[in-house]
Amino acid sequence: MKTIYVDNNATTRVAPEVQEVMLPYLSEFYGNPSSMHSFGGKVAHKIEEARAKVASLINASPDEIMFTSCGTESDSTAIHATISSVPDKKHIITSRVEHPAVKNLFEHLSKKGYRVTFVPVDRKGMLDLDYLYSNLTDDTAIVSIMWANNETGMIFPVEEISQVIKKKGIVFHTDAVQAVGKMPIDVSNSEIDMLSISGHKIYAPKGIGALYVRKGTRFSPFLIGGHQEGGRRGGTENVVYIIGLGKASELAANHMGEMTTHVGKLRDKLENKLLNRIPNAMINGDKKNRLPNTTSISFEYVEGESILLMMNELGICASSGSACTSGSLEPSHVLRAMGVPFTAAHGSIRFSLGIYNTEEEIDFIVEKLPPIIENLRNMSPFWK
Ligand code: PLP
Repeated sequence: MKTIYVDNNATTRVAPEVQEVMLPYLSEFYGNPSSMHSFGGKVAHKIEEARAKVASLINASPDEIMFTSCGTESDSTAIHATISSVPDKKHIITSRVEHPAVKNLFEHLSKKGYRVTFVPVDRKGMLDLDYLYSNLTDDTAIVSIMWANNETGMIFPVEEISQVIKKKGIVFHTDAVQAVGKMPIDVSNSEIDMLSISGHKIYAPKGIGALYVRKGTRFSPFLIGGHQEGGRRGGTENVVYIIGLGKASELAANHMGEMTTHVGKLRDKLENKLLNRIPNAMINGDKKNRLPNTTSISFEYVEGESILLMMNELGICASSGSACTSGSLEPSHVLRAMGVPFTAAHGSIRFSLGIYNTEEEIDFIVEKLPPIIENLRNMSPFWK
């Protein structure tokens, strides 16, 4: 059975070009980049090449990029690095719809004595900016707002937000794990202080990430150890994966046009055909402010998990809510924050497309999903 993979916000395949550049650094060139000899120096040079490629994807300067082990570590580093450099400030702000990498950290910090403001979103998933701005105080240490939501694909105006936050002298971090590689990002157009990247969302392996730290941003290291990463993160570098992330960043820059044309067209086709063929189906989010690859669709009066299982039988891999919340029958915190009615939130499916999806795959989903929903509804006591 062929796998039809439309779960690219959960993770992506490692691009063959990325695999190819990584392999020699697993076998032949195994030197430690910190060594004095030229065998290690060659590896150090490759890390700097990768750093320049990641920087170029977001128009940063290479010395503003530090490598981490994943998006979660980048988020944690940004937030911990900030709060420990301004220990007197005890107020922190984020949104209600963040990924658990930020949401759960903020909840943890609230138990440690921080006052946390969670900014609400409206029915379309857009952030309440007035609420955000009216809650900024002299005691606010950091504002962390994601660039794009992993479940709905909603894009938040983080460049604009960063300008307002900057005027107050507060640090602004954005979790851009889902935005990077799917839309052009230019940090020089903003006052963003820190920005998180994850490799496995952009066709690099799982277990590698990066954090952009604007020059001059207060920062105290989260991982204390050796002098690696300019003293910002101790630990011998994950050379092979760093090289992979560099290549993936280069590919992402080259594929940016394809994201909006090829991927965006496939997403729109999938969405339009499903909405036409399936009654009581609705998009979660606002069509105008979304990533080109993502659609979250609620099919009323059915369980998302049942839909996923039936699609899985046909080789279709999608997700209900975020990958981290699937497995639990609670509607996701994102859909709850948006006020999606219970009957719809339970039947929500996220399709997240990628550069390897084809027209034939979309046609297959469009053919197979309507009878799945019809059958499930016929079994439901709530559907008449
Ligand atoms: N932030 C967002 C928005 C995500 O979607 C994810 C992963 O799904 C993460 C952070 C965590 O990234 P990682 O899996 O690399 O830790």
